[in-house]
Amino acid sequence: MKKIAIIGCGISGMTAAHRLKNHYEVELFEKDSKPGGLIKCDLVDGNLYHMVGGHVFNSKRQDVLDWFWKFFDREAEFTLSTRNAVAFMGKPIGYPIENHLYQMNDITINNVINDLLDLSLNKNDEPKNFEEFLKKKFGNTLYEEYFKPYNEKIWKKDLTKVPLSWLEGKLPMPKIEEIFYNNIKKEKETKMVHSTFFYPKNNGSQFLADRLAEGLHINLNEGVESLSRNSDTNKWMINSQKEFDMVIFSGNIKFLPSILENDFLDEYQESIEALDFHGTTSVLCEIDINDYSWIYLPDISFDAHRIICTGNFSKKNNSKEGILSATIEFTDFISIEDIHQQLKKIPFTPKYIDHRYTKYTYPIQDTTTRELISKIKKITEEKELYLTGRFAEWEYYNMDAAIGAALDLTRTMNSEN
Ligand SMILES: Cc1cc2nc3c(=O)[nH]c(=O)nc-3n(C[C@H](O)[C@H](O)[C@H](O)COP(=O)(O)OP(=O)(O)OC[C@H]3O[C@@H](n4cnc5c(N)ncnc54)[C@H](O)[C@@H]3O)c2cc1C
Repeated sequence: MKKIAIIGCGISGMTAAHRLKNHYEVELFEKDSKPGGLIKCDLVDGNLYHMVGGHVFNSKRQDVLDWFWKFFDREAEFTLSTRNAVAFMGKPIGYPIENHLYQMNDITINNVINDLLDLSLNKNDEPKNFEEFLKKKFGNTLYEEYFKPYNEKIWKKDLTKVPLSWLEGKLPMPKIEEIFYNNIKKEKETKMVHSTFFYPKNNGSQFLADRLAEGLHINLNEGVESLSRNSDTNKWMINSQKEFDMVIFSGNIKFLPSILENDFLDEYQESIEALDFHGTTSVLCEIDINDYSWIYLPDISFDAHRIICTGNFSKKNNSKEGILSATIEFTDFISIEDIHQQLKKIPFTPKYIDHRYTKYTYPIQDTTTRELISKIKKITEEKELYLTGRFAEWEYYNMDAAIGAALDLTRTMNSEN
């Protein structure tokens, strides 16, 4: 059997490993002490802590669902929930907000109706960036009151500089007549991937990682610091110790040129270094009891952009009955002193428990990113070095899209074997 090394034991690396292990001898290398990457969780004072996000699962791709559910007992091990999200705009407004105009004040309702009627009468050109998209889809009032402040907080970016391709599949796409219909009929939106979602009854997304790690040959605490290709034997050497026929890299592409001993990527080094990204500070808190799943925070008087009520995803996530735990997200680094100042302004009276800063959480594309990654892949794949994953491909993947990408890659590799 040919030997494959997989660098990274997140959802992408483990998906690839399961798919290949019947055709190849597969070994994973993970620099951390446990599997999961971004989906890792810890237990802090009896509360389940998603160190990044509050990972819930669903997919529109049938092959992803079929693959995923082979590892789990859906009924016994998961709960299925309907998203109950709100945007807090002085008071909770149902989410997506365009379906809940009837909960807003009269002036806003009238302004939004006029905006939408104007938009329906004027035939507009195709939007070229995120700001144009939001204005043309929802009108100026909703843009100014919700979409602009919320998105500027999370992306810390001029929204005219955000290309639409990067947000493909993640954008709300209601037609104007659907917005009116949904408001009149008080319909909830069902088209987005997480409008219903699965969540493990125990141990959050760490449960997914631990189950997927079963049956795999994983070297934990073994970061790959050097990767070299012998051009005579066409074999890859990892950390100057172990030899493989092929390598799958699911880590962060920014670090690939520095671990790669060969000069294959030298001409792209500068472009790789320039790839843009954001980190996240996730603050674990106890908050007022409520029954929301996500609370979006467009209010610009504080920096956090959302509260993820992880304690509502599974009651077992809370230290005890009568307590609700949640994570509050800030884009990029924020100091402990600032966290305490900020928490005083955030609704639902959050009480601090713990916090973590993760440097790489959101890969940000510009109009050149996909072309760059595809050129790099072409070079590396000729040498049997494959890239898959959120930061390996610099794609804004959810878990299901990361699984989907690994399924697509391994389908080709298995058929070539
Ligand atoms: C705030 C936030 C909320 C999210 N919420 C959701 C959600 O609710 N639902 C959902 O489906 N998705 C969600 N996602 C997306 C999800 O986290 C990702 O799609 C998924 O975890 C990506 O997995 P990955 O394996 O591609 O990358 P990663 O999870 O980053 O895994 C890469 C792994 O490689 C390891 N590694 C890197 N370099 C090396 C090296 N040199 N040697 C050895 N190991 C190395 C890392 O330690 C890591 O374990 C969210 C993401 C964020 C940031």
